[in-house]
Amino acid sequence: MSDERAGRIADFIEPLRVEPGSTVRLGRDFDPRYKAGLKKRDGVELLQTGVSLLAEYQERLAAQDSHGVLLCLQALDAGGKDGTIRHVMSGVNPQGVRVSSFKVPSAEELDHDYLWRYAQRLPARGEIAIFNRSHYEEVLVVRVHPENLVRQRLPEVEGGRDLWDRRYREINRWERYLTDNGFSVVKIFLNLSKEEQRTRFLKRIDRPEKNWKFSAADVRERRRWDDYQHAFSEMLSATSTKWAPWYVVPADRKWFARICAAAILAHTLMEIDPQYPDVGDAARKDLLATKRDLEREAPEGAAADPYEDRSEKGRSGKGRSGKRRSGKRRG
Ligand code: ATP
Ligand code: MG
Repeated sequence: MSDERAGRIADFIEPLRVEPGSTVRLGRDFDPRYKAGLKKRDGVELLQTGVSLLAEYQERLAAQDSHGVLLCLQALDAGGKDGTIRHVMSGVNPQGVRVSSFKVPSAEELDHDYLWRYAQRLPARGEIAIFNRSHYEEVLVVRVHPENLVRQRLPEVEGGRDLWDRRYREINRWERYLTDNGFSVVKIFLNLSKEEQRTRFLKRIDRPEKNWKFSAADVRERRRWDDYQHAFSEMLSATSTKWAPWYVVPADRKWFARICAAAILAHTLMEIDPQYPDVGDAARKDLLATKRDLEREAPEGAAADPYEDRSEKGRSGKGRSGKRRSGKRRG
C-alpha cells in the first residue's frame, strides 16, 4: 500500500474525527449533508476501491492473527447502519467478521454489569467485530429513558450527572484496555438530519416492501430528537479519545456515508499494517523438500508442479512443454 494512498485516506477522514477533549454540539459542528465536494457518480468507484482495500487488509489481519478490530456503529433510527454494514463489508471474507446487533437487554443481560453483554461479543485476534448499536446505548437510550436504568438495578441508582460521567470514564478505560491489548476500537456515528429521517420514515410507509422496517416506536423516539442530540453531543465530547476517537459521518447521503465508513475502517487497518507471516528459513526448507516429494508423485502426462506451470504460462504467454512428460496416460 502506498503511503500516498494512506495519506489521502487520512486527509479525507480528518474532518470527521472528533478532536479528543473538544466540546461537540452536533447541530453546530457537523453537517449531515457534507459530501467533501464529491458527486454520487464518483462514489461508486471510490466505494469499490475501499471495499477491495478492506478485503485485502482483512485477509492480512487474519493471517497475522495478533490484532483485532471492533467497529461500533451508532445512529438514530433510519440512520443507515444496516446498509452501511452490508455495503462496506461486501468484499470481506465472512469467516473473519462477526456482526452483533444490540437490542433491549434481556433478563439475563440485566442480571450482569452493563458492559457484560458487549464483552461477550468482542473480536478475537485476526477478526473484525461490528457492533450494530453498542455499549454507547448505555449512555444514550438509557439516558434519554431513565426507566432503563431502573431495570439495571444499580446500587444507589440516580440518573444524575455523576452517573453519566462515571460511565464515560468506565467506557474510556475499557476501550483503553482493549487497545492496549491489541484490539483497535473504531467508532462511527451516522449523523442524520431530522428532515432526512422524516423522509426515510415516509419511504418505509409509502413502499409496501419497506413496511416491515417501519416501527411505531421509531416515531416515538423521534419525538425525543432534541434529547438524543444532547445525549449524543455529550457522549461524543466525553468519549472521543486519542486511543479510540469518534468519527461523525454525514449520513443524509447514503452513498457518501458508506465511503466514509469504508475509509475510516481502512485507515484503522492501515495503521495496524498487518503482514502475512514469514515462516522462516527452516520451515521454508521443509516446504521445499515436501514440494519435491509432491512433484515426484506427478502422474504420467501431468506437469510436475501444475501451479508453477500455470503461473509460468501466465507470465510468458506460453507453456513450458519441455518440462512435460509424454501426453499419454499410463495403462
Ligand atoms: P432496525 O430498526 O434497523 O432493525 P435497530 O437497531 O433500530 O435496527 P430495533 O429492534 O428496531 O433495532 O431496536 C432496538 C432497540 O433497542 C432500540 O430502540 C434501542 O434503543 C434499544 N436498545 C439498545 N440497547 C439498549 C439498552 N442497553 N437499553 C435499552 N434499550 C436498548
Ligand atoms: Mg429500529
